[in-house]
Amino acid sequence: MPSETTQRSNYLEKPKTFAALREDILSRRVKAADLALSYYERIEQINGSLNIYLNLTRDRAIAQAERVDDAVAKGDPVGPLAGIPVGIKDVLVTRGAPSTAGSKILKGYKPPYDATAVSRLEAAGAVVLGKLNCDEFAMGSSNENSAYGPVRNPVDPERVPGGSSGGSAAAVAANLAVATLGTDTGGSIRQPASFCGVVGVLPTYGRVSRYGLIAFASSLDRVGPFASNVRDAATVLSVIAGQDPSDATSSTAPVADYAAESDKGADGLRIGVPEEYFGEGLDPEVREQIENGIAALKTAGCKVQPIALPHTRFAIPAYYLVATAEASANLARFDGVRYGYRSPSSNTLSDMYSHSRDEGFGAEVKRRIMLGTYALSAGYYDAYYLKAQKVRRLLAEEFLRAFADVDAIVTPTAPTAAFKIGEKSGDPLAMYLADIYTVTASLAGICGVTVPCGATKAGLPVGMQVLASHMNEGTAFRVARAVEAAQVQEQGSSCNSASQSPRGSQF
Ligand code: GLN
Repeated sequence: MPSETTQRSNYLEKPKTFAALREDILSRRVKAADLALSYYERIEQINGSLNIYLNLTRDRAIAQAERVDDAVAKGDPVGPLAGIPVGIKDVLVTRGAPSTAGSKILKGYKPPYDATAVSRLEAAGAVVLGKLNCDEFAMGSSNENSAYGPVRNPVDPERVPGGSSGGSAAAVAANLAVATLGTDTGGSIRQPASFCGVVGVLPTYGRVSRYGLIAFASSLDRVGPFASNVRDAATVLSVIAGQDPSDATSSTAPVADYAAESDKGADGLRIGVPEEYFGEGLDPEVREQIENGIAALKTAGCKVQPIALPHTRFAIPAYYLVATAEASANLARFDGVRYGYRSPSSNTLSDMYSHSRDEGFGAEVKRRIMLGTYALSAGYYDAYYLKAQKVRRLLAEEFLRAFADVDAIVTPTAPTAAFKIGEKSGDPLAMYLADIYTVTASLAGICGVTVPCGATKAGLPVGMQVLASHMNEGTAFRVARAVEAAQVQEQGSSCNSASQSPRGSQF
């Protein structure tokens, strides 16, 4: 007779879809509380080696799961995410639970409220298991900038999971949560999702409330989901999207049933392929997989055409000016007085400020505060910040023109598959270039989805980025579903073709 623990962990051997879990929970085959406990057991076994969770919210999770079980027992209606175990990137605040943004300066900080996206997940019945590791203040592309140590990629623990939402992507890949929330300012949902072989969503700017998100660059920051499949990611987006009186930039546009949208198929959709995303710097193995993905879209009935986005080459410098400028303003609030860490080694007020910031912030965060302060300073503002804003406008207009002719644009999500831990950490510029395909959509405010699209010969996942115009998430999901369906077929028909099928999580 297998022990209760083995039974529980057997249940989690393969990631389950929302639909399968919902059926089990509603039919009372599985209790939401037991499901949460089995995830905690798995976390206990695996988290030590991958460093994905920073904090667990066990009491809160079990109480929520028991509420779901009671409702099910009574036959009361339950929300669309009833009993689904989720994890939250640590830049989103959670009431009474440590919320550090991956920074020493916020060590021990327990906010008095929940981020809107978190409260909406819970209102839909989701069970919040805990808080996920990330680059400090979401600044990075590898998760190596966390004050709490790097996250390891579950597909290959010698490699980074991507960043900054590395913990959110790795949690889904290692099945330490069914879905997670991350944030994306310049690629931080899409790039790690691509590196870990999961689905990640960049919602349109304003689609999801930023209330309770510890700000990095407010005009770029977005909150979005990760899941193991497109439909589940779409379901989470419908739950967290929509206007919020606490965020003046949140949109009043109606929220679609994105999962139902994604069911509509991609037949007849016009797809643009921008040549600028296939030039120098793109790993040939990544290119090959994306080309296979594009061929699959043609088979699915999409009309594929080349398009031009000539301002793409200005995106990295524009992004790193706008993002750092906004970061330097946003991070001024961490002064050792109002939140978190205060240096014990100061006698005067100004020493207290500077020592707290010097000891509390990591090297990358300080680099960005200095770059941003410089770009905003008198005499340099016009040459850097203002110019970057103009480039941003040009990029946005260029995308809008492209979307007059095509419904979606597909590109690689990142120029390479996951790189080794330490490989780029000494070279900030090389790290910034990892975002070359993602910062454009960030600057333009448009939406996108990254979906697994084959693997390198070594079995490392490759992601395809599907971009759509403002508030057209439904279209991006339809295209992503078609790519996903082709992968499933491919894996079914050629199980032993190592160059095509991703290795999958080793855990
Ligand atoms: N990697 C990019 C950066 O370091 C993007 C980060 C993000 O999207 N939060 O700024």
